[in-house]
Amino acid sequence: MKFIDSHCHLDMEPLAGEFEAAIERATKADVSMMINVGASMRGSKRSVELANLYPNIWASVGLHPHDAETILDMESTVEELRTLAKNDKVVAIGEIGLDYFDFETKGEVTQKIKDEQKKLFEAQLELALELKKPVIIHTRDAWADTLSIVTSYNLQVTNSVPGVVHCFTGGPAEVAPFLELGFYIGFTGFITFEQSKFDDIREAVKVVPIDRILTETDAPFLAPEPHRGKTNEPAFVVEVAKKIAEVKGAKIEEVALCSENNAKKVFNIS
Ligand SMILES: [Zn+2]
Ligand SMILES: [Zn+2]
Repeated sequence: MKFIDSHCHLDMEPLAGEFEAAIERATKADVSMMINVGASMRGSKRSVELANLYPNIWASVGLHPHDAETILDMESTVEELRTLAKNDKVVAIGEIGLDYFDFETKGEVTQKIKDEQKKLFEAQLELALELKKPVIIHTRDAWADTLSIVTSYNLQVTNSVPGVVHCFTGGPAEVAPFLELGFYIGFTGFITFEQSKFDDIREAVKVVPIDRILTETDAPFLAPEPHRGKTNEPAFVVEVAKKIAEVKGAKIEEVALCSENNAKKVFNIS
């Protein structure tokens, strides 16, 4: 049985300091494929480097919505991503999207920040269309705007797949329109957390067909149970697959196989 971590950040601390050991542990845990996702320009560059060092790592390049405020020149930023994306191991543009949660106030970000995030998101969606690459969408507290923006683009470029909505945090109501648009859905350690506030995500797991699910860790964040609180790493994706199997009443072998086939389809990996 092989497992897939469709979304990790081996370039981020504290994982970056021990990425070789983490990759070794992932291999021992039968994680056969990892997508290292760029979330900043620096992270995107490092993703490409890592993917070129390891045959079982692929890269995505993109800027996280949190970076929107720091963009000085959109055109040269996109040009830099375009150049990086030409590398053979780059399989997607991401993570890109909208994140309206303000860490400082614990409320919503300002309208100005929302507008900057939308601009960056749209510029990267256009790049994905131009390069015919799927997208990895990050969305937090921004369902309606994310949906309306992705709906306005005809994104079904690779294998008729627009991409993946990663680290899904909504329930059945939020997932339905993204499934309709052809998106795959990535689930993380959130689904293993006991508290009832995560029940809605488990309900989403129930309604997403098994051939549209991707397993992911989002390491170094969000370590799944029983590792909660530790630094997350790709090896722990096994716990996510286990939980999906439990929630769906499926065999873990079936979840693992489907997740591998799904990732290969979304990211056009043969
Ligand atoms: Zn994310
Ligand atoms: Zn991420």
